[in-house]
Amino acid sequence: MTGRNSPIRGYILDLDGTLYRGEKAIPGAPQAVVELRARGRRICFVSNNPLGSREAYARKLSNLGIPAEPEDVVTSGWVAACTLARQAPQARVLVLGPAELVRELRRQGLHPASDGAEADVVLVGFDQTLTYERLNQAFQALRRGATFAATNADPTCPVEDGEVPDAGAIIAALEACCGRKVEQVFGKPSPHTALAALDLLKLPPQACAVVGDRLETDVRMAKENGMMSVLTLTGVTRAAQLACSQVIPDHVIASTAVLAELDNQLNPRS
Ligand SMILES: [Mg+2]
Repeated sequence: MTGRNSPIRGYILDLDGTLYRGEKAIPGAPQAVVELRARGRRICFVSNNPLGSREAYARKLSNLGIPAEPEDVVTSGWVAACTLARQAPQARVLVLGPAELVRELRRQGLHPASDGAEADVVLVGFDQTLTYERLNQAFQALRRGATFAATNADPTCPVEDGEVPDAGAIIAALEACCGRKVEQVFGKPSPHTALAALDLLKLPPQACAVVGDRLETDVRMAKENGMMSVLTLTGVTRAAQLACSQVIPDHVIASTAVLAELDNQLNPRS
């Protein structure tokens, strides 16, 4: 349940489609973040995309006029690596994902598996260099009983001129041949990512709002973890989709540019 009467003291902001599209900031978004910070609101940034490190996302945001430190950023790759390192520190992990995901696992002390025969965990991410051989290695590991995990389950990833297949498409391919369902997804809307963000903000869920452009990840994570949900229409969700969605956000804004005005409504001065 969202604590509707609680003041909102922290914002969990999605990146792609919410603060920027491709290499361009959403107009007005940097100013809105600066204004919220000036009011003392705590801000953290969350992405389901494991292509970049926390440092790389902080740099990109700072370059777009939204000052950010790596410690303000949650990525699905970082959450996956931290969670697996706690759950199964000795596990050998076969990664179907970007090189950055392998580096993140190593930073958390985990051992990437070189092939399917030695894998205890198959971790699927946004793999843009996937080969049939690698898919088969994952299939064989899963048949032998390896844990089936993924950084995120987004079916597609938005790019400048449309969308491309994301981790959800690779999960679907493995589910089809293994006859098993993915067991752990670490990115949004999972509680792993919600807790990681709340931990950075050092706030209870009822004092936080999640702002994002996807109903199935951003809004769902807010609703399932006791936070306020704010959908922005600058990304993948169109007003027509919203009209027939089962997942209903608490608030809908045209753009993150108006987030400071929404904050006025959420925290009226008494
Ligand atoms: Mg997004």
